[in-house]
Amino acid sequence: MNTSKSILEKVRLSIVEGEPFSFDIKRDDLIDPIISGNKWRKLQYNLLKAEALSKFGILTFGGPFSNHLIATAKACSVAGLKSMAWVRGDELRSESNDTLKACAEYGMELVFISRSEYRKKDDVFFLKELASKFPDYYIVPEGGKSYYGVVGCQHILQETTNDYDHVYLAGGTGTTAAGVLLSASEKTKVHVVSALKGAFLQNDIQQLLRQVLNDENGVAYYLKHLVMINDGHFGGYARVNQELLDFINQVYADLGLKLDPIYTGKAVFAMVKDYNEGLIGPEDKVLFIHTGGLQGATTWKDELSFL
Ligand SMILES: *Cc1c(COP(=O)(O)O)cnc(C)c1O
Repeated sequence: MNTSKSILEKVRLSIVEGEPFSFDIKRDDLIDPIISGNKWRKLQYNLLKAEALSKFGILTFGGPFSNHLIATAKACSVAGLKSMAWVRGDELRSESNDTLKACAEYGMELVFISRSEYRKKDDVFFLKELASKFPDYYIVPEGGKSYYGVVGCQHILQETTNDYDHVYLAGGTGTTAAGVLLSASEKTKVHVVSALKGAFLQNDIQQLLRQVLNDENGVAYYLKHLVMINDGHFGGYARVNQELLDFINQVYADLGLKLDPIYTGKAVFAMVKDYNEGLIGPEDKVLFIHTGGLQGATTWKDELSFL
């Protein structure tokens, strides 16, 4: 695992209207093939916290294809911590798919629960109960959505010149977006492309900023830099169409850059749309944060040229 700075790459994308589109890419996808991208950023301080509290392991939550679960499983195994996951779906077993299989191989204990029970994952009483049942585990919420997750994501821009006019990234829980907002320069607009259908992500980002800042004026100040893109999800979470898959293959042919169809493919698609529509000026400095996610892309191995 390369836990020092991730690489910054400068590219020129030709598959756009007019002049090639020049932008930088923060290659967090290269931190580790399994503890990929923003998942490492979100786990880093949670692991340190667990160690500081002398816990034996991490207990967390996720769906059966979760990038967060597999990242937690490997990161804990590297750090010498145990890991336990409460997984959505009581019909599942550790052999059900490659993600769960790998989690089990990294030593993660998998507890399969019903969808209705899974819905309690953020309930304070349920979490209290869980904490008293498993006192040796430090509990990390689904997707690493936490105070320490936000803190870790502040490093992404701090490792760059941090003088961008526009930063683009994909959003799920909004944890990465909150960390990026808190560390962005005064002039930077942070464009967050939601991987999910609906308009709740801004609210989630706002809650996370509140949790870190505890100051309403501060929250309002940082939110002014946020540009939400809520119509870039292609029909919903993990929904794809031929246009998106073609686009991902085109980007790979042009730049040799691999994108996944759930998060980063949709985010680059939305960024290129903004470029083609003239929302990004020819002199503007642009950064795309590659948040990783390729472990889950094998579902589309017949459609994507690089798999
Ligand atoms: C999990 C994930 C995201 C979402 O990050 P949040 O911090 O939850 O918003 C984005 N991109 C990739 C590749 C991911 O795996």
